[in-house]
Amino acid sequence: MSKAARASEAARVSRLASALVERGVDRLLVSDLVNIRYLTGFNGSSALAVIGAEESRRHLFLTDFRYATQSAEEVSASFQIEIAQGEMLASLAKVLAGETGKLGFEDSSLTVEQHAKLAAALPGGWQLLACGGLVEDLREVKDDQEIARIKAATQLADEALRGTLEAGLVGRSEREVAIELELRMRRLGASGPSFPSIVAFGAHGALPHAEPRAAKIASGCLVTIDFGAMLDGYCSDCTRTYATGRISEQAKEVYELVLRAQQAALAAVRPGPSGRDVDAVGREIIEAAGMGERFGHGLGHGVGMEVHERPRLSRTAGEQPLAAGQVVTIEPGVYLEGALGVRIEDLVVVTDAGHEVLTELPKQLTTIE
Ligand code: ZN
Ligand code: ZN
Repeated sequence: MSKAARASEAARVSRLASALVERGVDRLLVSDLVNIRYLTGFNGSSALAVIGAEESRRHLFLTDFRYATQSAEEVSASFQIEIAQGEMLASLAKVLAGETGKLGFEDSSLTVEQHAKLAAALPGGWQLLACGGLVEDLREVKDDQEIARIKAATQLADEALRGTLEAGLVGRSEREVAIELELRMRRLGASGPSFPSIVAFGAHGALPHAEPRAAKIASGCLVTIDFGAMLDGYCSDCTRTYATGRISEQAKEVYELVLRAQQAALAAVRPGPSGRDVDAVGREIIEAAGMGERFGHGLGHGVGMEVHERPRLSRTAGEQPLAAGQVVTIEPGVYLEGALGVRIEDLVVVTDAGHEVLTELPKQLTTIE
C-alpha cells in the first residue's frame, strides 16, 4: 500500500473520531467489512475495528490467526492489531475489559445474534449504542485517490465494452456477451465485475434487472448492457443501449427521449441541488412525453467501494444537497413491457465547478450488428 493511501486512511479515522465525539460515543465497533477496509486498508474477510473517540483510546483492529500476516502488511499504523483467540466478539470484550463508556455499533451490519453475544460478553460499565451509518457518511464524499480509482475502473470497463462490441451483437447469446465482457474486464486488470452484468435485448430489455439468457440476440431490436468493473477496491457502473439493425420509430423515439432526460439531468449535477432535485430534472422530461409511469426506478445512486451507496438520486431521496467529491450515476430508463427497454447510464463526479463525467463511451444511438 502506498504512503498516500496510508495518509488518507489515517485522515478518515481522525474524521470518524471527531464524529464520535460529536455523538457522545467513546468507541465505535465497525463490523461492516467494506467500512473496515475503508478505515484500515485491510482486505480480508474476517475482522472487526474499534475506533476510539479520544487519543487516550487506541484504535483497535481484530482478526483471526489466518490473517495475521496479511493484517500486519495491510492494516494502517493507526491501529493496534489483536489476533483473536477463538470467537472475535468474545476477544473484543476481553480487549475492552480495562475501560468503560459508550460503545457504538453498526446496527446496519451487526446481527441480532452478534449483538446479544457482545452484550453478554462485554464487561460491566460498557453501554451499547446503535450508530450505523457513520462510516457511510464519510464514504459518501470521495478523496482524490478514490476518485482516481473510480475513474480507472470506468476507463477499464469502457475499454472492455469497446472490445466486446467489435465482434458484433447479432447471433450471440446474452450470456455469451456478458461472459466476454467480464472476461475482458478481468484481463484488463479488474478483480471482477462490480455486479453481475446485464445484457438484455428486445422485450427482455424491459426488465431493469434482466439476467442474461442463452437466447441469441436478434437483428432490428435494442440491446441494453449494464455493467461495471471492480478495480483496486472501487467500482464503476455504466449502461449503454444499442440498436441491432433497423429499429422501429417507437424504439428510436424512446431512445432519444431517454438520452434527452439523461443529458438534462447530467447538466444539473453540481453542488447545491439535492438528489431529489436532479431526479426531478430527468423525470420531468420523461413525464412530459407521457412515459413517467415507464420510468419506475430512481435516477441514480452513489458509487464507490460498493456499486450502490449514498447518495440516492430519486423521488424519495432526502433534501441533502449534492456535494463536491460525491460520485453518482445518472441513469434514466424507459421500459415498455413486452416490447423494449432503454437505459443510459454515466458515472459522474460532483466537482466544485459542477461535474466531470467519467464514462467516455458515446451515447448517440449506435447500431451494432
Ligand atoms: Zn448500472
Ligand atoms: Zn447504476
